[in-house]
Amino acid sequence: MDNGFLGSILEKMNISNDSEKLDKLNSFYELLVEKNKVMNLTAITDYNEACIKHFADSLALIPYFDVSQCKTVADLGTGAGFPGVPLAIFFPEVQFTLIDSVNKKLLFIEESCSSLGIENVRVLHGRAEDISHGEFRQGFDLAVSRAVSNLSVLSELILGMVKKGGMFVSYKSAQSDDEIKSSSKAVELMGGRIEKVIDFTIPDTELERKFVLIKKVKDTPKRFPRKAGTPLKSPLG
Ligand code: SAH
Repeated sequence: MDNGFLGSILEKMNISNDSEKLDKLNSFYELLVEKNKVMNLTAITDYNEACIKHFADSLALIPYFDVSQCKTVADLGTGAGFPGVPLAIFFPEVQFTLIDSVNKKLLFIEESCSSLGIENVRVLHGRAEDISHGEFRQGFDLAVSRAVSNLSVLSELILGMVKKGGMFVSYKSAQSDDEIKSSSKAVELMGGRIEKVIDFTIPDTELERKFVLIKKVKDTPKRFPRKAGTPLKSPLG
């Protein structure tokens, strides 16, 4: 296993790391690839590609947003644990809640975190539309999400979980400008305001990505999100 490759990308991104964190990421990679043989968790199994597209991409937020100021973070549609698990490894003092509607993916995350001694991750099985109306309503300081839905839909799914004054960070591809523009109505209806769009490139690659930072400025009206399935079927705005 080559700690050097991942460590050197992270250094170029100004993300300080140590061998304990790199070991955990590398072990998580091994567990992921092993489990991927028996269930569909990821299309990315090559080590270097996983370092770039899963680990470096998940952690790329660190230079732009101070995650350590948050007590609670939700990762909606975490899948095999991205970006939630890498971020949890880097912020052991912050409590991460990884949400997905597919329970077997969450079981993989739970098993992996327990075997790697990652204690600040809990999983939550369900659909965002339901979870947003329950005990977690406006409960998280920060919500993150990658590769789940377009920004209008995602805003309806997630902004109800974010505390007033908190932030939602959407991990997006470089080609999302139109999507971002057309989400502004949904963002506003949900009590959010697009604060910043950050472009970044993973070092030594041509992988261009964006973060959309959406500040939760008002309470989300009680009627949102609408019932499960509706946000995707007829997006707000
Ligand atoms: N974030 C991961 C996985 C993306 S795949 C990554 O970047 O690799 C999208 C995931 O979102 C799937 O696991 C799917 O089950 C989950 N998902 C989609 N809609 C959802 C919803 N409404 N509520 C909860 N999870 C959802």
